[in-house]
Amino acid sequence: MGLAIVHSRARVGVHAPEVRVEVHMAGGLPAMSIVGLPEAAVREAKDRVRAAILCAQFEFPARRITINLAPADLPKNGGRFDLAIALGILAASGQLSNEALDGWEFLGELALTGEIRAVDGVLAAAVAAGQAQRKVLVAPANGFEAALATDVEVRTARTLLEVCAALDGRKELPRAQPRQYVPARQPDLVDVRGQTQARRALEIAAAGAHHLLFIGPPGSGKTLLASRLCGILPEAGDTEALESAIIRSVSGHGLDPARWRQRPFRNPHHTASAVALVGGGADPRPGEISLAHHGVLFLDELPEWSRHALEVLREPLESGSVTISRAARQCEFPARFQLVAAMNPCPCGWAGDPSGRCLCNDEMIRRYRARISGPLLERIDLHVEVPRLAPSLLRSDAIPSESSAVVRERVIRARGLQEVRGATNARMDQAQTNAWCVLTSGDCALLERAVESLQLSARSLHRILRVARTIADLAGSETIRTQHLTEAIGYRRLERSLPRAAA
Ligand SMILES: [Zn+2]
Repeated sequence: MGLAIVHSRARVGVHAPEVRVEVHMAGGLPAMSIVGLPEAAVREAKDRVRAAILCAQFEFPARRITINLAPADLPKNGGRFDLAIALGILAASGQLSNEALDGWEFLGELALTGEIRAVDGVLAAAVAAGQAQRKVLVAPANGFEAALATDVEVRTARTLLEVCAALDGRKELPRAQPRQYVPARQPDLVDVRGQTQARRALEIAAAGAHHLLFIGPPGSGKTLLASRLCGILPEAGDTEALESAIIRSVSGHGLDPARWRQRPFRNPHHTASAVALVGGGADPRPGEISLAHHGVLFLDELPEWSRHALEVLREPLESGSVTISRAARQCEFPARFQLVAAMNPCPCGWAGDPSGRCLCNDEMIRRYRARISGPLLERIDLHVEVPRLAPSLLRSDAIPSESSAVVRERVIRARGLQEVRGATNARMDQAQTNAWCVLTSGDCALLERAVESLQLSARSLHRILRVARTIADLAGSETIRTQHLTEAIGYRRLERSLPRAAA
């Protein structure tokens, strides 16, 4: 009696560091102080914990209660520690055995009635509890999410009273079960008419994890095509799916436990702020690029995005993660997404259309395209024109297109070859590129001439090689042949007509 220690977890980015709730009880005037929480949070926590303890027919000790949340340098916002604090008070005052708390972690806010309420980020907490070899107790509403973590025993309880009865051995708490996985119907490529070249580029992008830019007039099907990319990617592996699920769980957008394995497709509007795009805030939350982790980020109307938003994209495009710095701490969010961007060829959207309806002059087109910086463009491996469809292709008796399932088979075969080599083509490092993208001397000269005439950088040159590797993989060819290389160079052609601003 006098002291109790209860384990819980905070939420810092996608991590769930351990928090020890230490409750000390001493003689003197009845009072309760909480060290390590912001003042407003302390007031609210005190009220909830006191009411919940009384509601559960326990006695609220008329002693001097000091509660310390350690370590001190963690953000400890919200009511996620209520349950741990209440249990600590009951144990320190002898109303609950101290030993019963061993091997458990508790996460939940208390209602005044003693009911346990859901908190955010429980998936990361459950994974971490399993690594610490402890069981974890959460609110029933958090059960489905926490149960996605394997190698950990997750139990749910509705009220503080139920928890105490279970810890005393008088009651068995239900084990949290994952909800049955029900894949949503993905949009299918069979609905996309014509656009042979754009479909081909989409397939290459999927096969090698390359970023892609569609350029075409409004209504040509750029959005339609982009929304089909997830459906032709291989299914996410366990680790990948869990990583994406944890990000959704801490984002505050909510995680659908029945759809958790689905690769995310994020489609933010161009008016979104840089913070909404890459993450941030006083209590840093992941942005769109992290919500698209292991999935697809679609940025429509690329030149309409703010310059700043596009600049902050550059680093995560390269590194697969984003670091958000706040005064006191740094937060890193994974952001390995596949970018699909789309833009009109000119401000009115009709440049190059045979109808001749575009009235933009050269200067207007140049200024419009200059909104996308050269360095960003350089990081996009495939640039494809998506022309307006001929009306005959839209007729219902036009030849039907290939379905996503058929394309996906080829993508999976190509990815299989890359797995053996140790890296997805778009993510090969320099040494891997040198080892796996060998050209004949004739093709080397061809590539050098192309780089010269298109005025491409060394970075672009290596990216061409990786795309050529993917094209060869799709063809089942061990070596990169001339036709693979020329096709890869073709996807860089727009770079010359687009701006090459200083890096
Ligand atoms: Zn125009």
